[in-house]
Amino acid sequence: MSERGLLIVLSGPSGVGKGTVRKALFSQPDINLHYSVSVTTRKPREGEVDGVDYFFKTREEFEQMIRENKLLEWAEYVGNYYGTPIDYVEKTLQEGKDVFLEIEVQGAMQVRKVFPEGLFIFLAPPSLSELEKRIISRGTESAEHIQNRLKAAKEELEMMDAYDYVVENDKVELACERIKAIVMAEHCRRERV
Ligand code: 5GP
Repeated sequence: MSERGLLIVLSGPSGVGKGTVRKALFSQPDINLHYSVSVTTRKPREGEVDGVDYFFKTREEFEQMIRENKLLEWAEYVGNYYGTPIDYVEKTLQEGKDVFLEIEVQGAMQVRKVFPEGLFIFLAPPSLSELEKRIISRGTESAEHIQNRLKAAKEELEMMDAYDYVVENDKVELACERIKAIVMAEHCRRERV
């Protein structure tokens, strides 16, 4: 049996519903994954809680974390920094627990270099037009931001082939079931004696 936990990375284009799927997954009572809370310089949205949704930081604080090598990966995404604190990931994997990251594509590719043994899952939209609809209907940002997100999303879709698995997010509950099945299968694959 392997002693270290599994690092699971859920990624995919902006607007595909990564956050929604992750929250639905973690609201299930039988889930045995440990969510790594990211650091960001983005302002909190209504209802977001510091330390739960993100650790909200200033640009100066974030840049200091980069300098001090406290981040496993980081990316600048539509004008804000996002990053994964390395200590939590390392400590939790060492304890034999599975760690779950929900991050954008550039960051996922950086994690791939450090943890090639990780499990990389790409959450895909049913279609490009559906993705555009979701980004526009979210409506929490300015028109300029929406255009930037659409552009980023199209580039991100092209990265699909670099992942171990592609999960379609046609329905949130189905996407969760698929992710759980993949994680379970991955454990069986790795833990043979
Ligand atoms: P949002 O601002 O909508 O919460 O997140 C924007 C994007 O940043 C999403 O695609 C989300 O998955 C991604 N993201 C969240 N945390 C991290 C992180 O720690 N690192 C990276 N690279 N991306 C992240």
